[in-house]
Amino acid sequence: MDLGIEGRVALVTGAGRGIGRAICLTLAGEGARVAVNDIVQERAETVADEIRRNGGTAIGVAADVTDQEQVEAMVRQVEEALGPVDILVNNAGIPLATAEVVPATGQLFVESDRAQWDRTMHIITYGTLYCTRAVLPGMIERRWGRIVNIVSDAGRVGEIRLVPYSMAKAGVIGFSKALAKEVGRFCITVNCVSPATTETEATRDWIEAQRERIMAFYPLARGLGRLGQPQDIANAVAFLASQRAEWVTGQVLSVNGGYSMVD
Ligand code: NAP
Repeated sequence: MDLGIEGRVALVTGAGRGIGRAICLTLAGEGARVAVNDIVQERAETVADEIRRNGGTAIGVAADVTDQEQVEAMVRQVEEALGPVDILVNNAGIPLATAEVVPATGQLFVESDRAQWDRTMHIITYGTLYCTRAVLPGMIERRWGRIVNIVSDAGRVGEIRLVPYSMAKAGVIGFSKALAKEVGRFCITVNCVSPATTETEATRDWIEAQRERIMAFYPLARGLGRLGQPQDIANAVAFLASQRAEWVTGQVLSVNGGYSMVD
């Protein structure tokens, strides 16, 4: 199926590794021109190089999404190099695995402090606000846009020891639904993809220490003999970012091997 995004410009945040990297490679494989953002310049450049070696078009752009000025400068840089942003994937976040499976992960709310709340809120909620605010006027002007926010099942069903994280991700879900209602008239869609435990650099050690135990929480893990992979998330993002999903907005798609099943 042709997703209809050949030549579209996509900006993916926090994409120097993990889920974001897989999203960049997948969108580039569909013909999108990709801006790879990461807080670490070298990581962003490495992924952009990989795309170019595969015959695609990509640039690496370093910026901290918690800094509005850096975000605005990043979007200007992308526009100058590739053209206006058609597809925004707000992926940068804190990759916390499922605390209920292994209570040693995360922290009880009563033990958490303001510094941790601020970090979580800034990356997840303010990062999403700044990036979306920076690209939305152009999408409205051109009457086409796709915004896909990477949330977490923690934000849908809650996780012990991940209270501020669950709060922040739930906030992004509310943001996405409300914004979807505001910008539908401009043919812009806003959706969320919600992973549960996904094997990335950030979760690998934690998973390796108790793989069998974690797999027992995932119905599909028994059949497939594996946990969630970045490519699983990227496949869902590619659909929601595509022309084929023009009638889908304000939705949250869990890509989680059946970990939680929300109506
Ligand atoms: P990851 O492997 O840590 O990759 C995220 C990348 O974003 C890292 O290179 C990170 O750099 C970068 N980054 C962090 N803060 C940033 C900022 N302020 N501005 C720009 N880039 C920044 O994470 P992942 O596991 O792929 O997770 C990606 C998304 O999926 C996150 O939103 C996460 O919450 C969500 N998610 C992940 C899982 C999972 O099990 N992996 C489950 C549910 C939801 P540093 O490493 O230097 O911080």
